[in-house]
Amino acid sequence: MNVGNLFKIKSNIPSYVKIIAVSKNKPISKIKEIYDAGQRDFGENYINELVEKHKSLPKDIRWHMIGKLQSNKIKYIGNFVYLVHSIEKIKHLKILNKEAIKHNRVIQCLLQIKIAEEKKKSGITYLEAIQILKSDIYLNMKNVKIIGLMGIATFSQNKNKISDEFKYLYQIFNIFKEKNNEFNIISMGMSNDYNIAIKCGSNMIRIGNAIFGFRN
Ligand SMILES: *Cc1c(COP(=O)(O)O)cnc(C)c1O
Repeated sequence: MNVGNLFKIKSNIPSYVKIIAVSKNKPISKIKEIYDAGQRDFGENYINELVEKHKSLPKDIRWHMIGKLQSNKIKYIGNFVYLVHSIEKIKHLKILNKEAIKHNRVIQCLLQIKIAEEKKKSGITYLEAIQILKSDIYLNMKNVKIIGLMGIATFSQNKNKISDEFKYLYQIFNIFKEKNNEFNIISMGMSNDYNIAIKCGSNMIRIGNAIFGFRN
């Protein structure tokens, strides 16, 4: 059933859109089913869980960290994380850079922009993103690379509202992309709104419930 969901989604979206299977709170056995069907990109919200799952599952999985970052835990994912979607502070980049140097790798990151109206949703503003990208601190880091943006839309039935938020993110993305050849990922769209996100320019969607089902 999980695998059927994945293939159904895949067959209804353009091939340039990458699907991240969000496996938070899902057991290893379910993740393995999706893996066996060919899925290699998985996303997790909590570092402890991400580390445990990385240990237990095949090593060719590309692990995406999509949840809020706690500075004191970032060090645990430095040796393997593929893409960190949720950068909100230069401090996060500093820690990742240090870890990446230790492990002799470059860690790819996205800046999370706040596009939703809900206060508790994470992310930084466009201006804060500019400040990070232009800062000497960032420009001197050799082992982290910001390659795009991530955003979460307001949880709403109002499609126009969701669409406006995604369009805003796409607009910012294009401004950065014009000045920066490395910018190529815009991570937006979840189970409830990925079709809207794709219409608004998304090339990476993060899908949990629509793949794994709404119950454990
Ligand atoms: C949980 C989560 C998702 C997946 O949400 P679904 O509604 O299950 O598709 C995507 N992105 C982030 C940041 C999440 O926390």
